[in-house]
Amino acid sequence: MAGCPDWCCLAHSSDSPISHEARSIEVPVGFGEDGGQFFEVRAVQYLTEDSGTTHACEPVPFVEFAHHVNGRYSLINMSTAQARALVDALLRSIDAADSASGTERHQRKSSQYSGSRT
Ligand SMILES: [Zn+2]
Repeated sequence: MAGCPDWCCLAHSSDSPISHEARSIEVPVGFGEDGGQFFEVRAVQYLTEDSGTTHACEPVPFVEFAHHVNGRYSLINMSTAQARALVDALLRSIDAADSASGTERHQRKSSQYSGSRT
């Protein structure tokens, strides 16, 4: 498909796809009775409006963040700047929690959560 970004994992069957989507990354969260929850993160670029019409301007890719609990999920869409702010907040909190518990500081490697579902 012409114009498909490198990160898109969809095999588009039409010349006018609805979206480009990156492969989802799932991060388990929760403890004890709250276990079994997970965050699902991926990059998405919707090419048409909900009505099916084409966007007036070039659609911007964003980061889709879903919290799955008991088969239900809530969805949060973030700009890349908002997603970076969230990552920064998470890293600061991780460093604070690790230093408080004496655990090694977080290694800032982007490959840490490379698991994905197919
Ligand atoms: Zn695509």
